[in-house]
Amino acid sequence: MALYSDQMHKMGTENAFKVGPHILKVESRGTPVVKLNLGEPDFSAPQWIKDEVIRQIEKDNSHYCDPKGLLSFRKAIANQMNETRALNVSPEHVCVFPGGKPSIGFSQQLYCSKGDEIIYPSPGFPIYESFVRYVGAVPVPLHLREDQNFTFTPRQLESLITPKTKLIFLNFPSNPTGGVATRDQLHSIADIIMSQCGPDVRVYSDEIYENIVFDGQRHVSIATFPGMEKQTIISSGLSKSYAWTGGRIGYAVTPTIEEADMFKNLNINYFSCIPPYNQEGARAALENPQSRPWMADMTKIFEKRRDAILKELNAIDGITCRKPGGAFYLFPNVSGLCKRLGVIDAYESLPGRLKQATSPSTLFQMFALYQHKVAVMDRQSFGTIGANGLHFLRLSIAAELETLREGVRRIAAAGDDTAGFRHFFEKGENLF
Ligand code: PLP
Repeated sequence: MALYSDQMHKMGTENAFKVGPHILKVESRGTPVVKLNLGEPDFSAPQWIKDEVIRQIEKDNSHYCDPKGLLSFRKAIANQMNETRALNVSPEHVCVFPGGKPSIGFSQQLYCSKGDEIIYPSPGFPIYESFVRYVGAVPVPLHLREDQNFTFTPRQLESLITPKTKLIFLNFPSNPTGGVATRDQLHSIADIIMSQCGPDVRVYSDEIYENIVFDGQRHVSIATFPGMEKQTIISSGLSKSYAWTGGRIGYAVTPTIEEADMFKNLNINYFSCIPPYNQEGARAALENPQSRPWMADMTKIFEKRRDAILKELNAIDGITCRKPGGAFYLFPNVSGLCKRLGVIDAYESLPGRLKQATSPSTLFQMFALYQHKVAVMDRQSFGTIGANGLHFLRLSIAAELETLREGVRRIAAAGDDTAGFRHFFEKGENLF
């Protein structure tokens, strides 16, 4: 008898959490690593969140509470959804989770049966893909195109929709590409969904980066197009917008109250409820008029960093990088760099078993970390199916400009270090 269940072997992971131990290993040898791998803003959460959390703890608001989320917080979420998206949702349509992440897997558990198809962006947040086989569904990656600024065409989506399609994940602004679909693109995508999908198909619109949008643009939710509010789960949270990843507060707004209650039952089964003092802190964030200017200032800083780093990255031989419209990531194409450094040839020389475990961008990622002390994420960390032959890295700009510049200098140095790469590869350690 096997120790673990069959399903458990079908679950993927988020590699961002796997890079940490490698960084520690490198740093334990005495050299600090420039960390361009981080998926969280390098800012402190606003003071008004901290004050409210402390106030609530001192009030002894630290007991079990409503598994769906505190009504005070759900009211604030519903108000904000209605104000920012001109929707008409009630607090009963809202369910609160410990972060933006849990509702991804929960949605797959809630809506998908064996054999149902789940469409998700690739590259995309890894949890969309990692859950699919675990729930017995079929993964259908929707490949984001570099030449479309990491969006996709309505035709591409249409070609993937079948009678088995049950759930469609969308994520704008996107992790890892920073891509943002225009209002017109979203409109055409909505038209395809309305015309091709039955009423039981759900769109999971991951809008966790909704407040980090550049170039004077404003976030647009797909739920605002005619008919879409009846099919869309809007997911968001405090982790990115308020630099509060450790607060673990996220939420989803569902098309019907019944669906929010089904999510609530998943909460009951998994963790009962979410810390009430943090929910009150999150409520304070949503209600405080200082929050919008605070987020706008943070976004401006990300935008300045984006412009500076984009220029420097594009100056490196073998790297081309698109300008992201939001979030805090750059997603350069490193095909040329991998080719001139010998990474692609080295990868091709690996035996099949090792080839499966790594990729050219992974080899470069590990080489850059171990030999040039700069941490980035590889393409494979954002969806593996159909990613062969695609050579990209994700760089986070959640660090001071000088640190980012040093990181880019190290990437450039790694790109020129052909002898170093050959030696690293031949040693055969830490290749994935
Ligand atoms: N969705 C996307 C697109 C993300 O990038 C992340 C975090 O990186 C999440 C969801 C999860 O956020 P949280 O930390 O709030 O669970």
